[in-house]
Amino acid sequence: MADYSGRKALIIGMARSGLAAARLLDRLGAKLAITDMKSESELAEIIEKLPKDAGRFFGGHDGVSLDNYDLAVISPGVPYDAPFTKAVRKAGIELISEVELAFTQLDSPVIAVTGSNGKSTTTSLIGAILKSAGFSVYVGGNIGAPLAEAVGENYDWIVAEISSFQLETTKTFRPKIGLLLNITPDHLDRHKDMETYTSLKARLFQNQGEGDVLIVNADDKRSAFIKPEPGAQALYFSEKPLTGAGAWLEEGKAVARVENKMFELFSAGQLRIKGRHNAQNALAASLAALTAGVEPEKISEAVIKFAGLAHRMELVDEIGGIKYYNDSKSTNVDATVKSLSGFNKNVALIAGGADKGSGFGGLAQAVAQNAKGVALIGQTAPAIFNELGEFEPKVITKGMKDAVRLASGWLKPGGSVLLSPGCASFDMFKNFEDRGDAFKAEVAGLKEESKRCR
Ligand code: ADP
Repeated sequence: MADYSGRKALIIGMARSGLAAARLLDRLGAKLAITDMKSESELAEIIEKLPKDAGRFFGGHDGVSLDNYDLAVISPGVPYDAPFTKAVRKAGIELISEVELAFTQLDSPVIAVTGSNGKSTTTSLIGAILKSAGFSVYVGGNIGAPLAEAVGENYDWIVAEISSFQLETTKTFRPKIGLLLNITPDHLDRHKDMETYTSLKARLFQNQGEGDVLIVNADDKRSAFIKPEPGAQALYFSEKPLTGAGAWLEEGKAVARVENKMFELFSAGQLRIKGRHNAQNALAASLAALTAGVEPEKISEAVIKFAGLAHRMELVDEIGGIKYYNDSKSTNVDATVKSLSGFNKNVALIAGGADKGSGFGGLAQAVAQNAKGVALIGQTAPAIFNELGEFEPKVITKGMKDAVRLASGWLKPGGSVLLSPGCASFDMFKNFEDRGDAFKAEVAGLKEESKRCR
């Protein structure tokens, strides 16, 4: 276990994982200072929970003397290439993420999930399966509680969602079971190009060896090339039958082959989570659970029972025969394309938001194949409008209220309105939850009106 006692540590970024890192390092005997761009008053709630004698530099990094530190813990929200982070690296200070810090102190085996889309769903699903099989499980990382909060406890398994930002600064992180769900052109504004992004995702597996397992999407051309490190075992998942070890769909039935044994799992039609992408997530989660020693019957039972997470293809309500789905967590085009594919030509899409610089390639085709109309919101509305070319109807709306009403008007009973923005939310909302809640509030408003009209 790495020894942090007496280390002079600077925590950069004071959100939940920064706070967890600060408290852990304090417990481990490090000398601490904390810095954030936000002001003291903006951070008041968090500051209350900080170790009392930690140095504090808020409202920017003025006053931080880099000579005073030999370790920096960077929050996932702080860019690796920001001027201050660059200065920290240049000063020769060891730079790690909270995930790396926590990992060096954990006693329990880790199942880690990364990828562009599906991380939270798959992480939660693996957690649900393992819990239903009676294991003690900590589900955390990029979802829920930071990994640092699991230090000192004993779990049968830790299931961790890991973002590409967190992988930028891992060194010894070694999941016993690592899953790579897919790689799509997300976050290109920060990671510059696909190659950097792809190699980051592969870093999840770089320390694996004897006894470790990696689980990779065989249908995703950017992921499928990833091979196990010597001693580690690879399992693949696919919508089509595979010849090697892994899990796949055969006439709608999920089956798996692990260590030359065949297992029958669930039927895709039994899943409560909607869409082909969720069947893929279920295959990936099943492989992780099989590897962790859960019986196939138990896996199938838990997978079928899993209702999914809020803001991911969440069925909000049905009004006058029209269903309303909240997929606000869709912050890139691939997620929107996958979500659209789950509807049979009878869906009105609400899309648009803050620009992430990844473009909208593939959206026009998915819209032409599946959508009855597209109502656009936010900063990227004009760009998506142009991308959709000849497709009609498409309208740049005044906002969520307008969009929900317009989209409903395009449908007959049996249709669905889908909020799946394909963009970040920061142009109009605090975060994707806030955006999803705004959608839900408009749906609730429509429901009230429809009751009054009856
Ligand atoms: P993440 O944590 O990676 O953002 P989520 O499970 O929160 O993933 O889902 C984010 C978005 O991606 C949602 O719109 C969801 O419908 C979509 N999605 C989920 N799984 C996949 C997948 N395997 N491939 C593509 N899109 C997916």
